[in-house]
Amino acid sequence: MKLAGLQKTSVIDFPDQISAVVFCQGCNFYCPYCHNKQLIPVETPAGEELMPQDYFFRFLKQREKLLDGITITGGEPLLQPNLKEFMLKIKEESNLLIKLDTNGSNFLKLKALIKADLIDYLAVDIKFSWNNYEQVAPAELVSEIKKSVAMIINSDLKYEFRTTVVPQLHNISEIAKIAAQIKGADKYFIQNFRPLNTLAAELSQSRTFAPSELSKFRLEAEKYLNDVQIRA
Ligand code: SF4
Repeated sequence: MKLAGLQKTSVIDFPDQISAVVFCQGCNFYCPYCHNKQLIPVETPAGEELMPQDYFFRFLKQREKLLDGITITGGEPLLQPNLKEFMLKIKEESNLLIKLDTNGSNFLKLKALIKADLIDYLAVDIKFSWNNYEQVAPAELVSEIKKSVAMIINSDLKYEFRTTVVPQLHNISEIAKIAAQIKGADKYFIQNFRPLNTLAAELSQSRTFAPSELSKFRLEAEKYLNDVQIRA
């Protein structure tokens, strides 16, 4: 596992739980609005150091009683060759719940983790409507994401789909297409983006959506989905 860092406590990453957040190095997407751009290179950037796994598991031992769960995020955690073993070790060494954040681009790996019952809560980014995905990801990954979405909707998992919305990239018709392509999903979150440390420098100066615009997006998505919420 290439662990890039640890946030020792978070009350916002894992719904209804206090979690520690562990960040994985490396991502196969290039979202222009990514605010963790230092986590995109698969190789650790010069001057940065990875966090030793021993440090993480020592932390786990010390802080387990103060936490409900661990959020594994990225980068893209599914790129890590030893993710399953890492999650197994968390389960063996603690009673903590595990939330996994992913872009859904490795169907078989995700399927194996679900089958092994290692995910207590899954959050999957739906970046765009399928035809627009090439803005952020290689075309060959779209079929993987489609398969992941279908599997998740038909599973017993606790999960959410979510879209980070950016004024230059998303509009109401894009939200309608995204909502239609995840029809049948339990929960969908529309998240306002943060113009901070973005991969595309020009987006650091961008406006974000107003609450009234986000409400219109929610109403549009509710034409296809039962539970749509906004994260401002
Ligand atoms: S936003 Fe997430 S999926 Fe997109 S480049 Fe950043 S880490 Fe990767």
